[in-house]
Amino acid sequence: MHLVVVGGSDAGVSAALRARELRPGVEVTVVVADAFPNFSICGLPYFLSGEVPDWHRLAHRTRTELEGAGLELLLDHTAMVLHPADHCAVVRRPDGSEHALVYDRLVVATGAAPVRPPIAGLDLPGVHVLHTMADSFRVAAHLADRQPRSVIVVGSGYIGLEMADALTRRGLRVTLIGRAPAVLPTVDPVLGELLVGELRRCGVEVLGGVAVEAIAHRAGQLVVTGHGGVERRADLVLVGAGVRPNAELAATAGAATGTAGALRVDRSMATTLPDVYAAGDCVETWHRLLGRLVYLPLGTTAHKQGRVAGENAVGGRRLFAGSLGTQVVKVFDLAVARTGLREAEARADGFDASTRDLETWDRTPYYPGAAALRLRLTGDRASGRLLGAQILGPRQAEIAKRIDVVASAISCGLGVGELSDLDLSYTPPVSSPWDPVQQAAQAWESMERSAA
Ligand SMILES: Cc1cc2nc3c(=O)[nH]c(=O)nc-3n(C[C@H](O)[C@H](O)[C@H](O)COP(=O)(O)OP(=O)(O)OC[C@H]3O[C@@H](n4cnc5c(N)ncnc54)[C@H](O)[C@@H]3O)c2cc1C
Repeated sequence: MHLVVVGGSDAGVSAALRARELRPGVEVTVVVADAFPNFSICGLPYFLSGEVPDWHRLAHRTRTELEGAGLELLLDHTAMVLHPADHCAVVRRPDGSEHALVYDRLVVATGAAPVRPPIAGLDLPGVHVLHTMADSFRVAAHLADRQPRSVIVVGSGYIGLEMADALTRRGLRVTLIGRAPAVLPTVDPVLGELLVGELRRCGVEVLGGVAVEAIAHRAGQLVVTGHGGVERRADLVLVGAGVRPNAELAATAGAATGTAGALRVDRSMATTLPDVYAAGDCVETWHRLLGRLVYLPLGTTAHKQGRVAGENAVGGRRLFAGSLGTQVVKVFDLAVARTGLREAEARADGFDASTRDLETWDRTPYYPGAAALRLRLTGDRASGRLLGAQILGPRQAEIAKRIDVVASAISCGLGVGELSDLDLSYTPPVSSPWDPVQQAAQAWESMERSAA
């Protein structure tokens, strides 16, 4: 059997490795449009901040390791067209010539592309996006060659926040301009406000509720203008306005698409084309709580979907369990995380949701260094089902562990009350006899009791 995988990042490499692991006899060819297979683009902010000075270190696995696992890598090769009826992908080589690659099964893992918002001047020198290794090399070269002193980051989603943090660390004066009134629209505005406080404390100018309209070159600087007469100047502009699925290859070949134009897949990660699977940022994602397809591009999800696609492409019968949109972001000395549904999202999908906001300590308050944590726990009033949580606190406060406990509880279908029954670990320097997530669960139940 010949398995061809198009895309050599999180989803594609996961699929290829899983296929080889389960069926070592399968011939696996991975077609990669660039020269950076299995690189962690999640690590780009830390390369640009200087925390990871050598970009080679961002490779999850080296080329030699991938080839050692039996993958044939076609680097700098781009899949141009699919002919599903002939089981063939037309691939362009680095020299521009094309050849047909015949497959028995195909996995499409072409990822996402940065959204280009309707802003005049996006192509000016000094204006960058950040999605690929090549993008990061362009920004790194700009930082090294031109020694910019200031940057405007357009977009206050998680990549914008990570870059505001990274470039401040690098010594630049940072202005962050977001269209949404609060930063990080994936968490509730009350937590976004706390993040704004942290950004300002670290010297970042934050402008919310401003739609950027144009970028122009004036007197050696870039001038960014936005709604309401906002005008700021800087030496460098970084645009992080979200991503869109890079689904054209399979869609043009007739694969069905859905939310946001992402490829439609079933839970085996099969597309609507025969013998073609797809995974990662180019596909719709099954949401575990909503029980329907959404678009939720995340590296964690891409790995899992890729593994399922690779397994099924070689004859397996695995189903993707679904995503909860679990995410954690570091912003200077804070970390903020979420999983599941926020109240507004849950209500929009018919849940009778309510949220308990709680401030508590990350460890026993008497132990030196105890720090305040902010938790927001959402449950369904009618059934008591646990729906989601958001947590913000100092980055050392085990925020990720705590959100993962909630994510695990939701995955097991636990009720809010059952979260407080879990046998979680405790020692005074790191937690309390009731972990903060259990305190939040008890507070939610008590709120609901008094409302009844
Ligand atoms: C700066 C940044 C930080 C991030 N941080 C996090 C994080 O902390 N946590 C998290 O969960 N997620 C994070 N993400 C998101 C995560 O990186 C993506 O969800 C993940 O990379 C998606 O993997 P993928 O394999 O689907 O696609 P991609 O990583 O987009 O890779 C697509 C692959 O397809 C190849 N390709 C595309 N078209 C073709 C073609 N026609 N022919 C051949 N090859 C092709 C590309 O070269 C590439 O190899 C971050 C993303 C960025 C940009």
